Amino acid sequence: MTTAKFRLLINGERVAGEGGSYDIINPATETVVGQAPEASLAQVTAAAEAAATAFPAWSRTKPEERSALLNKAADLLRERMDELIPLVQAETGATQRVASTMQVPTCVERFRRYARGAMEPTTMALPPGEMPATALAAGGLMSAIAVRQPVGVVACITPYNFPIVNMAGKIGPALAMGNTVIVKPAPQDPLAVTVFGEILDAAGFPPGVVNVVTGSGPEAGQALVASDRVDMVSFTGSTPVGQAIGEVAGRGMKRLLLELGGKGAGIVFDDADLKTTIGTIASVWAFHSGQICTAPTRVIAQRGVYDQVVAGLAAAAGRLKVGDPLARDTVVGPLISAVQRDRVEALIQTGVEQGGELIAGGLRPDCETGFYVAPTLIAGCRPTNAAVLQEFFGPVVVVVPFDDEDEAVAIANGTEFGLYDYVFSADTTRALRVAQQLRTGNVGLNTAQRNHEAPFGGFKMSGVGRDGGSFGLQAYSELQSIVWPG
Ligand code: NAP
Ligand code: MG
Repeated sequence: MTTAKFRLLINGERVAGEGGSYDIINPATETVVGQAPEASLAQVTAAAEAAATAFPAWSRTKPEERSALLNKAADLLRERMDELIPLVQAETGATQRVASTMQVPTCVERFRRYARGAMEPTTMALPPGEMPATALAAGGLMSAIAVRQPVGVVACITPYNFPIVNMAGKIGPALAMGNTVIVKPAPQDPLAVTVFGEILDAAGFPPGVVNVVTGSGPEAGQALVASDRVDMVSFTGSTPVGQAIGEVAGRGMKRLLLELGGKGAGIVFDDADLKTTIGTIASVWAFHSGQICTAPTRVIAQRGVYDQVVAGLAAAAGRLKVGDPLARDTVVGPLISAVQRDRVEALIQTGVEQGGELIAGGLRPDCETGFYVAPTLIAGCRPTNAAVLQEFFGPVVVVVPFDDEDEAVAIANGTEFGLYDYVFSADTTRALRVAQQLRTGNVGLNTAQRNHEAPFGGFKMSGVGRDGGSFGLQAYSELQSIVWPG
């Protein structure tokens, strides 16, 4: 419990919500963490207006200036890490390990990365080209440059799983490129995001360049998506909400970056190193209780190792300590809310009704409070089982057997999603061949480790566009061609 006052940030002013405030609940203890501001529609409009007003001057600042401000923000974030980690942990239910290593330090890194990003070249020279005469102009040798220009005002709408990391991943590259932003975090856990807003204001970003609005319902996000002051929507969240955003944004021809749902396939071949493979897949449970879009939650195991994979995962599930996120040895914390726990439990039940075999978990763990689901393993699933096709966003792994490579690829490609898949095989030639047949934006070969400079995003219903490293700078810019004779 904290008595701190969490504020909106609109045009450089930290203000209370005109709609009052609402309680943020700790998912482990079910007690109130603090009160989040309830922004009125007038405040959301004011934030969009402020971002639009600030854009012309901000877009003309020197890269060095934007870089220095991003570095300053990273410094201040680091200074307030000890305050931010417990706050983000209380509102998300993240375990000690996830909160201390992933939630806050990752934000600092992202700001440092895009402080460097602000200095990356935005002009690309093209070789002169010989152009024939037309009715419009004389022929001749024409020179050209392609210049990256900021898009304008970017509405950044984020999910609940990694609230400030997700925010940093959007506003870092957006600000580096000279855009102005309005951040709308998820309703469940916006408190650290409001502190982040305070830090950015203190770092010296000019009024209106960064705005933060929060609220308990979809109205603030909907208003931003519909606003004619907003030029781009950068959204991370579920596929149905992404679809709704795309429809509305299309009317105003807004630029879109959509990072949506996933159902990561992990194809395990007979020759895979099973210790590494099982450890990697078991990280689904340990990594924020499976509330992560990229995880290998859908194991597709070749018959020769199928039994060993299931037995290995069952043993791993049984070893993971579930409970109080503050306890050092806890590996699996709660889900964000009772609503999310109920969704996950219902899909587990459907998966079993449709022929899946419950090998581990499935029952509520013995905790007095909190929205917990035990690490759950459902094996022997048919590829058409709802538990194989739909996203859990919880600590559940499903297993489907396969016989040959083509079948594995077909099963892996058999969901509407295409965000992140994995191939486990000692034969790296085969792993690469299979990876290239997967209709997915990202593939891990024998690892769940990422390369943050690689482009990140989804095929199919997992989204539109890419960020990550310099690709993030491209995502928040428009290409302009400038052409001249000679
Ligand atoms: P969500 O329900 O889609 O909500 C995400 C955000 O959208 C929230 O801020 C939400 O606020 C807002 N929102 C809802 N309806 C809206 C509308 N019509 N217009 C504008 N904004 C709207 O997602 P979540 O439950 O927080 O997060 C879980 C989902 O995120 C999973 O599907 C997961 O796969 C996905 N995810 C994807 C990635 C990726 O990189 N691809 C990363 C993390 C998570 P309100 O609830 O107040 O409306
Ligand atoms: Mg100020």
